[in-house]
Amino acid sequence: MRLADAVAAQADLVQWLLNCVASVGADPPGITREAYGRGENAAQAQIEETGLRLGMTASLDAGANLTLRWAAEAPQQAPVLIGSHLDSVIQGGNFDGAAGVIAGLGAVAALQAAGLTPKRDIEVLALRCEEAVWFGLGLIGSRCLLGRLPPGALELRHARTGLTLAESIAACGGDPEALREGKPLRDPRAMGAYLEAHIEQAPQLVEAGHPVAVCLANPGNVRHPFIRITGEEAHTGLPHRFRRDAALAGAEFSLALERLWLEEEALGRPMAVTIGRFHTPADRHSLTSVSGAFELSLDLRAYSAEHLKALETRLGRIAVEVAERRGVRIELGERSAAAPGPMHPVMVKGLGEAAGRAGLTPLKLNSPGSHDANNFAAAGVPTGMLLVRNRNGSHNPYEAMDTPDLVAAIGVLAEWLRTNACL
Ligand SMILES: [Zn+2]
Repeated sequence: MRLADAVAAQADLVQWLLNCVASVGADPPGITREAYGRGENAAQAQIEETGLRLGMTASLDAGANLTLRWAAEAPQQAPVLIGSHLDSVIQGGNFDGAAGVIAGLGAVAALQAAGLTPKRDIEVLALRCEEAVWFGLGLIGSRCLLGRLPPGALELRHARTGLTLAESIAACGGDPEALREGKPLRDPRAMGAYLEAHIEQAPQLVEAGHPVAVCLANPGNVRHPFIRITGEEAHTGLPHRFRRDAALAGAEFSLALERLWLEEEALGRPMAVTIGRFHTPADRHSLTSVSGAFELSLDLRAYSAEHLKALETRLGRIAVEVAERRGVRIELGERSAAAPGPMHPVMVKGLGEAAGRAGLTPLKLNSPGSHDANNFAAAGVPTGMLLVRNRNGSHNPYEAMDTPDLVAAIGVLAEWLRTNACL
């Protein structure tokens, strides 16, 4: 069978798997597949059963990630890993994560139906707990696999069960003690490539009218969750020249960051500024007082470490300028950071060519969100991602990916695998 026909023939399997993972996570009107819990476990069991039916072998690593392996008889190169996650946020949608795991199985099924044989192992990974909502830390399964859990992570507590991460991993058949040293469970240098298909979390593909794009990079971020501005509380009758208004300083500071964002974008340097929390203290504010205090959070994201560093310098300067002009104090407070995940140029090129062979326009876009792929890229594994068209964003019940678009992504994966991983 031609590969394109073999891919098209997987549409029923793909739809069936999408329905399966939806039913195990049903939580109307959304989907909740609790990480290291019922929904994720049930989805993992379903994926495992399908992999076994495709003649793959199944194993669980110390982080309780599932690996399904289609083994080459005499491997000529290091394995290719295709992965994503099966957990969702609380009241999320069905496709963020699960679609990527299903795409991996769909690609293997298509190659088999086309009569192809692997020259290197092809593995499908169902990674655990990608969503930060469960433990306040994201990408946990891929962190476990690649030895990138931060200190103390195993003691974090699950938002619903209250169990520690170590206890949660053990309850799902993993081995938390093997994770304590923070070493990779497998040598990343022995991973030939990592591929991930993921729904796009912005409407760029909807806008462009294309089903699939090759991802150029996932953003890294710098976060300040608790920025505090201190001015002077005063009566509403105080003339402007005497005021040290923390609320207006917060507004000016935020708008200056938005201006920075727009300037950078105009210069072709993509980034994003998100002020998720923005308020006067509820126990002090009133209609007739000038605010003496203001609080906000900041998530600053960009696609290269150099750009993030330059933006942090600008951030510091803006804080100083606004503070001086308004006579307030601006404390950026606690800081956390995550490294950007640039995709490997060879993978970007290869996936673009595979898209062309699959009859698609090889559109290339930055991903708006971070993914498990960030950890593989940071560990030095040649990493590539496909973004799949999706309406209504993600992390909500209204995620809307059409199955034919996922089948189109499977077509690209299968074309890439035929060239790079099959005899
Ligand atoms: Zn995801």
